[in-house]
Amino acid sequence: MPCRRTRLARSQSCPAAAEGATILGFDIRLDNSWYILVAVIIYSFTTSVFPGHAPGHSDVIYFIMAVAGAFLFFVSLLAHELAHAIVARRRGIEVAGITLFVFGGIAHLKRSPATAGEEFWIAIVGPLMSFAVAGALWLAAMGGDSIGLNNAITTVPYYLALLNLLLAVFNLLPGFPLDGGRVFRAIVWKISGNERLSLRVASMIGQILGYGMIAMGLWDAANGNVMGGLYFALIGFFLRNAAVSAGRSAKAPAADNENTI
Ligand SMILES: [Zn+2]
Repeated sequence: MPCRRTRLARSQSCPAAAEGATILGFDIRLDNSWYILVAVIIYSFTTSVFPGHAPGHSDVIYFIMAVAGAFLFFVSLLAHELAHAIVARRRGIEVAGITLFVFGGIAHLKRSPATAGEEFWIAIVGPLMSFAVAGALWLAAMGGDSIGLNNAITTVPYYLALLNLLLAVFNLLPGFPLDGGRVFRAIVWKISGNERLSLRVASMIGQILGYGMIAMGLWDAANGNVMGGLYFALIGFFLRNAAVSAGRSAKAPAADNENTI
């Protein structure tokens, strides 16, 4: 998920970028909330996901698989955000850094894309990277299978390939501020020639998507999947808020000087 104030945006809920490790010249920061996600991932991988997909191993093996899986998830998200950041930098947009937090990753761009084409390419490359990572992990797992590696080893890349596939497809949903919403916005912008209109339309779809996710998550939670359902609903709430603030900015008078993060 790239986070950048649009030229029209006055306020948008972006977790702040800060100093941390540097990869390819980009500052990488782990928000404190990121560790909640890591803990939940390791817990669910250890207790249900991997025992379900590769039965018959000990708890210690499942825990090691879970830690490896969580690390691959971290690398996957980072690859997705680095793809946004690299394309942005190549197009002359300075990148303040990348933050991983409880709902995923954010690339902080210092200015908004100036054209529909810029918006399109910076947004689309994230899901494309997730598809590529999914393919690479799938091939690695199949390769491991073909040389007879234990399924305690191959199940991890298989499952992470699936997660990357879901990540790519989810991010391609057409509601702003998801990547798909930005791609959709770029297309509306290109066709209509109206940047403000494109943001309003994408924001509206983003809000509908957010409310839909809240409803689905709450329904899921009420039917037994409490943690997963509430997490899904919270992502919906986060998206809905970001979409609302983008939509507000599209209605407001031009505020082109508010590009900083
Ligand atoms: Zn993205």
